[in-house]
Amino acid sequence: MAIDPEFEQNREKVEDHDGHAVWGPVDEPEELGIHGTHVAVDFDICIADGACLEDCPVDVFEWVDTPDHPESEIKADPAKEEQCIDCMLCVDVCPVDAIDVDPGRAGRI
Ligand code: SF4
Repeated sequence: MAIDPEFEQNREKVEDHDGHAVWGPVDEPEELGIHGTHVAVDFDICIADGACLEDCPVDVFEWVDTPDHPESEIKADPAKEEQCIDCMLCVDVCPVDAIDVDPGRAGRI
């Protein structure tokens, strides 16, 4: 299952994490929600493949620890989503379609 590109309509913003939004539901450690808005990563789909960290030309992503999550114990966090230049590489390389990028969404500085 891929990230829902309509998450802004279908989910509630439940918290901020290091300056970006988290879209619930969140029930740690098994359910972590979607991190980011312009650059959105569904933590519940992310398997920590790492292609997005390697390929992003402006280093938007950073690893965060997510112990005891069923898919992976680290996640690619869009920590610097405001730097995104909308190249869509991360969307293309993610093997599980956990990332959606939309410059029209909120979160752009
Ligand atoms: S769209 Fe490009 S610049 Fe933006 S986060 Fe993905 S890889 Fe980085």
